[in-house]
Amino acid sequence: MTDYTRLAQLLFPHVTQTPQQLIEGRFPPRTLKEGAQVTRFAPSPTGFLHIGGVFSAMVSERVAHTTGGVAILRIEDTDKKREVAGGVSLIVRGLRDFGIVFDEGALGDGEEQGDYGPYTQSLRAEYYHVFCKELVEKGLAYPCFCTAEELDAIRQKQEAAGVTPGYWGEYALWCDRPMEEVEAALQAGKPYVMRLRSPGKPGGRVKFKDAIRGDIEMEENFVDVVLLKSDGIPTYHFAHVVDDTLMRVTQVVRADEWIASVPIHLQIFWLCGLKAPKYAHIAPIMKEEDGSRRKLSKRKDPEAAVSYFIEEGYPAEAVMEYLLTIGNSNFEDWRRQNKEAHYTEFPFKLNKMSASGALFDLQKLKSVSAEAVARMSAEEVYDQASAWAQRFDPAFYGLLTADPAYAKGLFSIDRGGKKPRKDIVCWQDVKGYAAYFFDPLFVREEVPDLEPAEQKRILEAYLPLMDCADDKDAWFGKLKDICPALGYSPDVKAYKAAPERFRGHVGDVSAVVRWAVTGRKNTPDLHAIMALLGQERCRARITDCLAAL
Ligand code: GLU
Repeated sequence: MTDYTRLAQLLFPHVTQTPQQLIEGRFPPRTLKEGAQVTRFAPSPTGFLHIGGVFSAMVSERVAHTTGGVAILRIEDTDKKREVAGGVSLIVRGLRDFGIVFDEGALGDGEEQGDYGPYTQSLRAEYYHVFCKELVEKGLAYPCFCTAEELDAIRQKQEAAGVTPGYWGEYALWCDRPMEEVEAALQAGKPYVMRLRSPGKPGGRVKFKDAIRGDIEMEENFVDVVLLKSDGIPTYHFAHVVDDTLMRVTQVVRADEWIASVPIHLQIFWLCGLKAPKYAHIAPIMKEEDGSRRKLSKRKDPEAAVSYFIEEGYPAEAVMEYLLTIGNSNFEDWRRQNKEAHYTEFPFKLNKMSASGALFDLQKLKSVSAEAVARMSAEEVYDQASAWAQRFDPAFYGLLTADPAYAKGLFSIDRGGKKPRKDIVCWQDVKGYAAYFFDPLFVREEVPDLEPAEQKRILEAYLPLMDCADDKDAWFGKLKDICPALGYSPDVKAYKAAPERFRGHVGDVSAVVRWAVTGRKNTPDLHAIMALLGQERCRARITDCLAAL
């Protein structure tokens, strides 16, 4: 038995299989069609879902599902200090609210689905140990018993000497210690971490291809990085290698803050005799402030939190559509050419992502959202608006849902067609948009253009003829019929040809009626509105108006 084998046995007596046996027995290759990608979104359950996280999750999920592959949700909970109770459920629910659905992984409340789990790192300790044991046997990992003070002293020495900080070369105190010393330290029960015995050299180079950034060349890793912490829990670097290998991930999509660590990761894959997945590093979402750009910040920007979009009532698909516009610059063209298609039909491509961070643009989100709402059916608008109101405006929820057919009727006015209206940006706008359909919310908020005396003449002439059950022609016919006696032209063209002959035209007449009935100067189709409001309500509103004039 070599020293390395003996050490491996001492360190990991509980590990009985090799990585190869584990892989073959428990994590066989997936049967997928050519080109299908296995991706994962791997958040830490810190109790906060950042919009940048939703963006990464969406990209991972889209890449998997547009290629016919598998999307995994893996929970990276090795940093127990940052973990928040209920953090996993918050992520799962948050992503589900946005329509981001994974095929495998955490489901919240301790539940998981899929054959390549567990999908929660704290439940996978034995797997990391299997891989670490083999590295020790091959002489590629070793225990390091340095105390915090010793590490501090190394750092100070390196600072004074002006060399790269870290546990490497002559500073790697336990790298070449004799076996007897290592065994003695183990027997004395000294705490230790497991480190990689890196074969890298300062100045050595490593090359890799990033699916977004193309070819990248960096200095290779020469630091004996920690693989397992003193409690046996892996660092991110080691967990990434083991997890993405066992889960058969083919395409890693993650934040670009990890680019600096790629040389470490590639080295660990190589030393473990494993094939590394492909990488795609996403630039963070940026915010423009006082002419300069910075990362969207959890502390400073309310729109960094996913809860902001939910509370404002942005429809989930609108947020997704917006994230697709900043994800792939050709999304907007595709959307124009495929007006009716669902966004999941868009062929999302990693190589069409920008390497510099996209700017978060609230105005753009609003316009994308207004378009998304305009594409919905009245039924969908009703369902989503009432679901939002139920949570955030219970009084309005009561009004909206008291008569669902009536509410759906109001949402169907001017919906569809070539040029749909875009008055609703998010669900909190619905109350304002629909206020005049509900007596408790009805107020005349704008001032009409015509003088009160003129309004009075028009409304007095119109009221006896009004019939909200008229079809559109009959309804408009009556507005025209009252024109001559009032001195208005029933025909706008005739008025324009000789304005001096009239007090106004039929458009002015309908404007007064519109104002009396809705309290507004600008609304969707007035005939449809009056038909829905009904004779009684319209009569009451016009009568009230006359009484006030
Ligand atoms: N848990 C890591 C993070 O939240 C995930 C990085 C990765 O996707 O590999 O940053």
